[in-house]
Amino acid sequence: MNTSELLAELKAKTGEVIDLRAAVSVLHWDQEVFMPPKAAPARGRQLATLSSLAHRMFTSEAMGGLLDTLTERLDELAPDDRILVDETSYDYAKATKVPAEFVEKFAEEQSKAYEAWTRARKESDFKTFQPHLDTIVELLRQKAEYLGYEDSPYDALLDEYERDMTAAQVRGIFTPLAEEQSNIIAKIAERGAQGDFGWVDQEYDEAAQLAFTEQVLRDMGYDFDAGRQDKSVHPFTINFDLHDVRVTTRVDPREPFSALTGSIHEGGHALYEQGFAPHDQRTVLAEAISLGIHESQSRMWENMIGRSLPFWQHYHAAFLATHAPRLDGRSAEDLFRAVNRVEPSLIRVEADECTYNLHVVLRFEIEVALIEGTLKVSEVPEAWNAKMKQYLGLDVPDDARGCLQDIHWSHGSMGYFPTYALGNLYAAQLFEQIESDLPALWSSVGAGEFAPLLGWLRANVHRVGRRMLPTQLIAHVTGREPEAAPFLNYLKKKYGGIYGVAL
Ligand code: ZN
Repeated sequence: MNTSELLAELKAKTGEVIDLRAAVSVLHWDQEVFMPPKAAPARGRQLATLSSLAHRMFTSEAMGGLLDTLTERLDELAPDDRILVDETSYDYAKATKVPAEFVEKFAEEQSKAYEAWTRARKESDFKTFQPHLDTIVELLRQKAEYLGYEDSPYDALLDEYERDMTAAQVRGIFTPLAEEQSNIIAKIAERGAQGDFGWVDQEYDEAAQLAFTEQVLRDMGYDFDAGRQDKSVHPFTINFDLHDVRVTTRVDPREPFSALTGSIHEGGHALYEQGFAPHDQRTVLAEAISLGIHESQSRMWENMIGRSLPFWQHYHAAFLATHAPRLDGRSAEDLFRAVNRVEPSLIRVEADECTYNLHVVLRFEIEVALIEGTLKVSEVPEAWNAKMKQYLGLDVPDDARGCLQDIHWSHGSMGYFPTYALGNLYAAQLFEQIESDLPALWSSVGAGEFAPLLGWLRANVHRVGRRMLPTQLIAHVTGREPEAAPFLNYLKKKYGGIYGVAL
């Protein structure tokens, strides 16, 4: 076969795998959104069958041979096809480095660990989870050996979520970030609450809340002809193709902002996936390059736009009308302040913009120490509580509200948490560039026009897909490697204004 025939063969084969993975995703989506409870065991089997079929097809010897031959002939390929071969080879190497028996063993331990974690959290007793976490850490270190790394075994795990980032690089960004951010929240705490938000706690109609989120999603540019929004326990975004990207949200009847900010967050994720280059459809290039870049899109829309004063000036009247008469007399400024309340809390998923990264830094430091073997699993609660005090000034009353609160470790996911904070930092760094490239940005946001912002994101981030690694992408767009300064400047300016204090 000549090179272009081989390339066509590669596209056809990977296309089939991508179709199967999309079918797996549809089943997952259905499971979270509509599936009746008795269907769970059958759905588990269906998912396992389709996933392993996709895995076998992708890791076949024929696929390996095809990729090898094309890699030898890279210089005969057009630039885009070269990247396609490189990226597919990267996925192939990842998928074949870890032996099947290990994957099976890992899955078994995962489900035991998850079960134990559920019990441990309910009883707030770390001891119940401890032996399972020990096993998970041991397996993750083994996995790192299979995957390979240069300095720290943690690098191999991090690479699964944030390509090419290392523990050392992340530490270099996180350590000064944590120190400055701790100072910011200490100053805010000293200043005290600015206003009484007791008025927020009322009963808000669910259908009205949902309709409002849909209107905002539409205004943002989310294409409802290439997606839909449903309700689920945990909001998420999932895609089966760049023309079918779905979001979910959850409604709190006593809080009018959480469904809205949640929908805007998922909408940011979805715009990224609807925005992959159409000619990359059904290839690995129409995928997010990393979780950090993905999260930068959701956080930018949620926080920089959805929690900005111009946003609330635009939506103020419509929001009051939606919830009339509950919010009568509330100004745009009142709403803006209500969505930007700062309060250090024990729980990561409830954390505000000022405190969120600190929850992540704490987890990152513990994970690295566990994987590098400088912290024993039995010492996790103590380490957790000490860092909580150091970074957030809080005493942890029990493990349920401490080191047992997240599902991630029970799933065997380490290296995942840093991507949340990196997302915040990337968002601020990109946004600084956007504000300089689009001088009229805020007047268009104030008019409810998001097309200029979306156009910028499409051109500079979405269409890139997997063509650039996260650090390359940030450096390419902003001229600088990822750093904490733009995020800290953003926090200081915004919250210094809200709290009337120099940060
Ligand atoms: Zn997200």
